[in-house]
Amino acid sequence: MQYNDFKGEKISALGFGLMRLPVIDGDQAKVDKEALREMILYAVGNGVNYYDTAYPYHNGFSEKTLGEIAAEEGLRDKINIATKLFTLMMNSPNFSPEAMMTEQLERLKAERIDFYLMHGLSMDKWVTLRDKFDIINFMDRAKKSGRIRYAGFSFHDDTPAFKAILDDYDWDFAQIQYNYADTEIQAGDEGFEYARQKKVPLAIMEPIKGGNLIFPESDEVKAIIKEGNFGYESTAELALRFVADKKGLLTVLSGMGTMEQVKENIAIFDRAAVGCFTPAENEAVEKIKKYLIREAAIPCTDCRYCTEGCPNKINIPRAFSIFNQAKKYGNRQAGMRDYNRSCTNLKDCTECRACADACPQQLDIPELLKGVVDYFEA
Ligand code: SF4
Ligand code: SF4
Repeated sequence: MQYNDFKGEKISALGFGLMRLPVIDGDQAKVDKEALREMILYAVGNGVNYYDTAYPYHNGFSEKTLGEIAAEEGLRDKINIATKLFTLMMNSPNFSPEAMMTEQLERLKAERIDFYLMHGLSMDKWVTLRDKFDIINFMDRAKKSGRIRYAGFSFHDDTPAFKAILDDYDWDFAQIQYNYADTEIQAGDEGFEYARQKKVPLAIMEPIKGGNLIFPESDEVKAIIKEGNFGYESTAELALRFVADKKGLLTVLSGMGTMEQVKENIAIFDRAAVGCFTPAENEAVEKIKKYLIREAAIPCTDCRYCTEGCPNKINIPRAFSIFNQAKKYGNRQAGMRDYNRSCTNLKDCTECRACADACPQQLDIPELLKGVVDYFEA
């Protein structure tokens, strides 16, 4: 296992994300504790010392099961536990950061949380936490009392928001979505560099874009990697190495749900480290990015001008986005889940063309919608 230096400690380059755990009977609250125990013991035995959970993961059973396993196996001092203050609850009348942290410590059977994050910050959420809940004071007090060791935040907004939040507090670390397809959105390359200059190490989430950069059905992408003769043919490995190569990392999180994934990721992070990415691998990434642009089949900009006038309330941009994602990543199966959830009324289209008249991209929306239906229902 490769390690990153963090305030005199060694943090494993691979972090174990605990949000897609094995479950029993498909019930997210029934984490398969014995399967997870085996995975964690294997990961600890192979040097993984960063475990990332959050208040809502698996309806609270991610924190709880991790806490039980850590206590039963005597792991508490061998691993770093990262968890998050669930900011989505801050509009509920009973929300109290203090009470939530106490509950989390109980669930984790721990006296301290090593890495504590404000969960999924946008600028708006940060301002509310800061001004309404005096969260800076809260984090300072929690650090002083030893309930947390390091304070950070995970982030979902744009680059200016990321920089502004970074500037607002003396953060120990931050967590961003970053992968080779997302270098221009969210914090992006610019935010990454800004954090590096400020010496705030980054935990990386979605390094394979929620599985999309695996391209299960794209022979073209697989061929690009094969032709490179990199000594591996895994699309996941290319994506993980792209991130692991960067300076300024705390860890790269991978949400692992099977022992096979744990073993594969550990093998990758035995080899991947800062500076590992070769010019040939970079070339492969550039080719795949071109493929992604080419396969973005419908040039919808998500402006939503078309939605208001639709008599049947069809969510046109959502349908196009699901279609584009599935085509882009060669993953019709993954798109199908979203299609079945959000596009049940596409066939209600009466071809009145109100949407097409409103579309600044001059898209022939009714025809394109038929194409989306054909693609998913053929
Ligand atoms: S053409 Fe179809 S999608 Fe467009 S506004 Fe009319 S009913 Fe809605
Ligand atoms: S108006 Fe056109 S570009 Fe805008 S969201 Fe609708 S389909 Fe997309």
